[in-house]
Amino acid sequence: MEKEKMFHYKVNCRVKFDKKELDYHISTAREYLNGLFGKSTKCCSVEVFNHNEFPHSDCSGAYHHSCNKICIYYSEDHDSFFSLLLHEMTHNKLHDILGNPPRWLDEGLAQYAVFKNGKVIPGKIKMNSLETILNSAIKDELMPLDYLINGDSFNCNRSLAYAESWSFIHFLINTYRFNKYFKRFKDTKREFFNEDEIKNLEPRWIAYLDLITTSQEACL
Ligand SMILES: [Zn+2]
Ligand SMILES: [Zn+2]
Repeated sequence: MEKEKMFHYKVNCRVKFDKKELDYHISTAREYLNGLFGKSTKCCSVEVFNHNEFPHSDCSGAYHHSCNKICIYYSEDHDSFFSLLLHEMTHNKLHDILGNPPRWLDEGLAQYAVFKNGKVIPGKIKMNSLETILNSAIKDELMPLDYLINGDSFNCNRSLAYAESWSFIHFLINTYRFNKYFKRFKDTKREFFNEDEIKNLEPRWIAYLDLITTSQEACL
């Protein structure tokens, strides 16, 4: 246990940062991910950049599969900084145990938990994503599940693909369907769902979206 703690994440922080706090949050995130997916084997490097020297222009965090490295830029809002780090650490974990996972699964799981006041909160409703989905649903432009999973969804409509992936993972986990499918996928490395399963899950996912929308409206 200690070994993994010390060696799994190699952090290079180019920003003045309380190292204890950084280590503490990384270890909190690591415990959460280990609990869900089991321990990792390969070492992952984490580079924390200043905003102005961040090497990627279209995002604030990135995970590089080929060199097993996380690039992230520092933000003073600690909850969003550590949420982004957790997002990229989830990618690292999934790539470590699955090789190259399907994009909807990778992004859906990476969005499932966030940091709030230094704690990992799984399953928080992402209001922005819910809104993106509702706006598309109103225009009848929701991407069908089969397209999200097997089509070119992330190139076709990136923000909708992220939102739908988040909601579909939320549905699978909260209706206790996730573990069974995930284990089968991990063990067989074959397609995550077959055609019949997608057909069967689609109306249930839509009904789930209605349910969480109604319950969120009730909370407002
Ligand atoms: Zn990078
Ligand atoms: Zn991502």
